[in-house]
Amino acid sequence: MKILTTEDAIKTELIEKRGLSLIPTMGNLHSGHLSLVKGAKKYNLKTIATIFVNPLQFGPNEDFNRYPRTIESDIKKLEKIDCDYVFIPEIDFAKNLEIIKAPSISLELCGKNRPGHFDGVLTIINKIFSVILPTKAFFGLKDYQQFILIKEFAKVNFPGIQIFGLPIIREKDGLAMSSRNNLLSRDDRKVAPLIYESLTWIKKNINKLSNEDLIKFSTENLKKNNFEIDYLGVYDISNLKEINNFKESALIAIAAKLGNVRLIDNIIITNDNT
Ligand code: AMP
Repeated sequence: MKILTTEDAIKTELIEKRGLSLIPTMGNLHSGHLSLVKGAKKYNLKTIATIFVNPLQFGPNEDFNRYPRTIESDIKKLEKIDCDYVFIPEIDFAKNLEIIKAPSISLELCGKNRPGHFDGVLTIINKIFSVILPTKAFFGLKDYQQFILIKEFAKVNFPGIQIFGLPIIREKDGLAMSSRNNLLSRDDRKVAPLIYESLTWIKKNINKLSNEDLIKFSTENLKKNNFEIDYLGVYDISNLKEINNFKESALIAIAAKLGNVRLIDNIIITNDNT
């Protein structure tokens, strides 16, 4: 695997390469990230992962400074699964960029308590796409709102890039894999699987109870277990507005804090899999 750290290196190394598959990450890689590389490799194109903790998507009181950084082991993990390139730029990569203003969907869910977060995400994605110009780019459905925003952004601004959303990879106890799981205290780690249990319980009962009751009971249960809920609800899969009656499809999504660690998760349900 070739390690590239500058835009010049990208230009020299990749200028002749047509058909790259891109996997953007912020590092501290786990099996969720690696599943994206493995998914990308199925298309028989060269794969390029990026590792960059993007300062633009963190608010002033968020965890940019304590976000886990494990570059050496990240590189080993990528080498082991035969990723072809990894791009690890310096912090200057995020300087003097054209700021992308995310559309109104960015104001729902995570956008409500993280103002500017998705502007930061799209601004860096715009830069990464412009520098690397991949043919395909792979994202996790764990960050569902991010995924649909990037998909829409690419449709207009980078129509040559095909955007893929791949399934959420979980720990054995159901907790969605996340770099932030490492920041949980031992006790919080024990109760963290309740997030996914709540989502699956809502899914199971979606045709039996009103959405209002489903959310009320789950919220009470989570609060009893020390979760501070940012949002929990049943949402339209396209515009992310809360829906009261489940018809054909829905996104059940949550963001909640345990201690000072913010976790997100979701399940998409359709009529065929309820
Ligand atoms: P991050 O490093 O958190 O920015 O994540 C980089 C990419 O990995 C994003 O597209 C995430 O949605 C994806 N990702 C993170 N965790 C998981 C997971 N548990 N399963 C699948 N994809 C994931």
